[in-house]
Amino acid sequence: MNGKKRIFLGLLSILILLMTLSIFFLFYMVRNRSSVLYNFLIGFIILSFSAITIVLILTVFGFLYVIYRGKNNEMLNKTLLLMIDELYPFLEILSGIFGVEKERIQQSFTNINNFLVSSRKGKYLPEELLILTPHCIQFNECKFKVTNDIDNCRRCGKCQVSDLIKLKEKYGIKVAIATGGTLARKAVMDIKPKAIIAIACERDLTSGILDVKKVPVYGIINIRPYGPCFNTKVNLDEVEKAIINFTNGG
Ligand code: SF4
Repeated sequence: MNGKKRIFLGLLSILILLMTLSIFFLFYMVRNRSSVLYNFLIGFIILSFSAITIVLILTVFGFLYVIYRGKNNEMLNKTLLLMIDELYPFLEILSGIFGVEKERIQQSFTNINNFLVSSRKGKYLPEELLILTPHCIQFNECKFKVTNDIDNCRRCGKCQVSDLIKLKEKYGIKVAIATGGTLARKAVMDIKPKAIIAIACERDLTSGILDVKKVPVYGIINIRPYGPCFNTKVNLDEVEKAIINFTNGG
């Protein structure tokens, strides 16, 4: 298991520990009070906490099973994807309490999401696949409007828009460049892809993956040699590997 996955699973284990300690504490409180209503309420909370804790423990075992046994099935995969989406906000709070940088938990979340998404059995036709990237990948002085239509690019090679076009032509996939979250959502609604390869910073990728529920999203964190949102880049090998994984082509 790589370090990125460990952060997410480590925080999940801490959450389980905290839940277990809370259950013991609640038991202690019941023992020291005699009011029936009070005991009923605390008993109800204990039951709820216990149920949640069991689900969390099963989630950890589910992950370990998939990671170490290399086995996977569609239902387990979907359940784990749903669980990481639901758990992310709590683990983000927990990571803040323990001083873990937000970017690291976001990277960990993306890494686990990618692992689950890429180990799914389902494959897609190239035209069902969408590469979605933010506008900052375009060279800042380029005057061609590629957000409306990527083919407006003149392929001068000053930025990687031309490389994305090459991938589009090589595999027959779709590529969209969006200037923000709203337009990215619109692109997804208009194109209706069956799978998405999203390129963005940690924060936007996390919110994008959490946003898009029905379609698998493989997230690729962009490279920011000049700081955020300016002449960004992407590892094209990683993009191509994700295309091949989704389409089983190559
Ligand atoms: S590769 Fe395309 S988008 Fe990038 S600077 Fe050249 S013309 Fe503009």
